[in-house]
Amino acid sequence: MSVVLVTGASRGIGAAIARAFACEGCDVAVNYHKNAEKANLLCEEFREKGVRAITVQADVSDSAQVNAMFETVRRELGDPDILVNNAGISLFGLLTDLSNDDWQRMLNTNLSSVFYCCRAALPAMIRAHKGVIVNIASMWGEVGASCEAAYSAAKAGVIGLTKALAKEVGPSGVRVNAVSPGVVMTDMMAGFSEQDIAALKEESPLMMTGTPADIADAVLYLASDKARFVTGQVLPVNGGMVI
Ligand code: NAP
Repeated sequence: MSVVLVTGASRGIGAAIARAFACEGCDVAVNYHKNAEKANLLCEEFREKGVRAITVQADVSDSAQVNAMFETVRRELGDPDILVNNAGISLFGLLTDLSNDDWQRMLNTNLSSVFYCCRAALPAMIRAHKGVIVNIASMWGEVGASCEAAYSAAKAGVIGLTKALAKEVGPSGVRVNAVSPGVVMTDMMAGFSEQDIAALKEESPLMMTGTPADIADAVLYLASDKARFVTGQVLPVNGGMVI
């Protein structure tokens, strides 16, 4: 039975990923930052499926909190075999309006967090010669988005880290991949008007936005043995918006 840690799993894409693993019979650690209530409700739902599920509060942009989170997961569930680095924030605005703090907050939350979590997870995975890491990138990390330079830079960093780390730890039996979502309807899209969303759909060959479950299905595949020969890859799940 696998132990899975999903960061930023209290809502949105992370919650769907955690649910998908629980439905597969995995024990799940639901990391959250501020939404304890939602995380607790999810864990109650998962326990009803007969799996073990715990919530772990941590701001993943802080390495000490990440290390403490891993200690809790190890104590309660055991070493994670599967790590999904999903927690993230967005920030919309002109680069010339970004403060140093905005930039640092973005890089710390969306990129350094992935480094901190991989560093904490890997020793046990390498010892076991078994483990899977899936990072949630973004199509903007592939092609860049106007007015989202910091976000695009952080996600491009996630893609670079994914590829480099896959080379480093492949010989130790650990696979590292990324899923690169397109537009997915979550709280992160709350700032977009109906017209904005309609325009984004128009831009996409499939003429639709994605759901958190669409991303969870891709993560499940990459974490499964069906992807045993897949590492260092970035799987785009974007309705064809970036081809
Ligand atoms: P969301 O609905 O805004 O949810 C964000 C999640 O991240 C929440 O569970 C939140 O926890 C958690 N989080 C934020 N900052 C954190 C921190 N410092 N420490 C720990 N957890 C933190 O976002 P989403 O749309 O599901 O996005 C999930 C991932 O997909 C992100 O990496 C995002 O960049 C990526 N993505 C999303 C889209 C999209 O269109 N939605 C597209 C491409 C990529 P709390 O609720 O507890 O605060």
